[in-house]
Amino acid sequence: MSDYKKIKEELFYENKNAFLRMKEEEVQKAFDFCEGYKKYLDLAKTEREATAAAVVLAEQKGFKPFSREKKYKSGDKVYFSNRGKAVAFAVFGKEKAENGVNITAAHIDSPRLDLKPNPLYEDTELAFFKTHYYGGIKKYQWPTVPLALHGVFAKKDGSVVTVSIGERPDEPQFVVNDLLPHLAREQEKRTLADGVRGEELNVLIGSRPFKDDEGSELVKLNILKFLNEKYSITETDFLSADLEMVPAAKATDIGFDRSLIGAYGQDDRVCAYSEFMAALDIKKPTKTAVAILADKEEIGSDGNTGLNSAFLAHIIHDICLCDGSDETVALRHSACLSADVSAAVDPTFADAQEKRNASYLNRGAVITKYTGHGGKYSTNDACAEFVAKIRAMLDKAGIIWQTGELGKVDGGGGGTVAKYIANLGADVVDLGVPVLSMHAPFEVTAKLDVYMCYRAMYEFMK
Ligand code: MN
Ligand code: MN
Repeated sequence: MSDYKKIKEELFYENKNAFLRMKEEEVQKAFDFCEGYKKYLDLAKTEREATAAAVVLAEQKGFKPFSREKKYKSGDKVYFSNRGKAVAFAVFGKEKAENGVNITAAHIDSPRLDLKPNPLYEDTELAFFKTHYYGGIKKYQWPTVPLALHGVFAKKDGSVVTVSIGERPDEPQFVVNDLLPHLAREQEKRTLADGVRGEELNVLIGSRPFKDDEGSELVKLNILKFLNEKYSITETDFLSADLEMVPAAKATDIGFDRSLIGAYGQDDRVCAYSEFMAALDIKKPTKTAVAILADKEEIGSDGNTGLNSAFLAHIIHDICLCDGSDETVALRHSACLSADVSAAVDPTFADAQEKRNASYLNRGAVITKYTGHGGKYSTNDACAEFVAKIRAMLDKAGIIWQTGELGKVDGGGGGTVAKYIANLGADVVDLGVPVLSMHAPFEVTAKLDVYMCYRAMYEFMK
């Protein structure tokens, strides 16, 4: 190697495509890991399903519900379910909790169309659901996409009826319609943000009237008759329900070379899967490891299943009770990888990014020192010392990673759960997976990045 090349290699920050840096066997391992990930995505289209599917896998690996009555020792595995909509997996460490807990935190809610409390109506002999979109969506992306209905009806007698229609090949699906281009001259004058409005995201759910010579709303009546026969519910039961319309498409490989994954809800189930698989694989960690799958991130982490609640502090409190640790000291000494996606550079829209500080597909897990908007508002800007620790850990383990800001300084912005965990006193930095078409009904990630995210989570918690 020439002097110039040698010195340059030593001094420059450069980041090459992971395919050019990994051995063939490791690439194969990454691809194999993503087969499990795709299966999980198809089972986990809502926060409830993501929780349930993760708990099933965790129980197979010996995780049990946490109980204050039990005594725990190093290597014991427990989980804390929060109303079935968020969950944390913990593996007890060799050291006391006071020495700090290693936390990874991803979210399992994704943008979607929620049903309104009184959603069902008939117009022009067609039946529809009114929806209220959840999270930051580009509304024009959601019409003419096949949708499935997932969620629960909670009934007055205390019973809960689970609903999932539109996933199996023998099940019907649903759709939001759009205006034909031939007649869209007025609609096309609207801005993109206003192209399809919130009150226009009405889901078509049927057209066959109840057979009767008189009466009105016969299509609606027929739908309610079907729902009553299948789920024993009446229209009033919609008032106490969590019902979500999500894209019906399955997770699939993308590209001739199968290097990418396309699926709904990869923000942030990609980090959630990486993180809890890592938690399932660790044996006897030095420090207690906690992997959280949180709800409500997409709407600001508010609510009792989001991380802007006492959810995490309560878990740390419970863990501290086990070995008589002080909870405040434990939190002060804790470290956290806030595991969330970042925006990968899309060459078609490269203008949105500042290329020296953006993340790219196939360059590994992405460390985001801060998110937020404008002059670093609303963010955890991780301490340099903590970022140094993390990059030293990654390099030592041979984990491929990159740095990435969300986009251009004045281009917009976004946030993660990082700041809420930092507010508890722990050291936190964002580490996740770059994604294309974030928040769209169908998002794209790269398999090698997913695998590097898993490896980073494992290394951090082991
Ligand atoms: Mn996210
Ligand atoms: Mn998001």
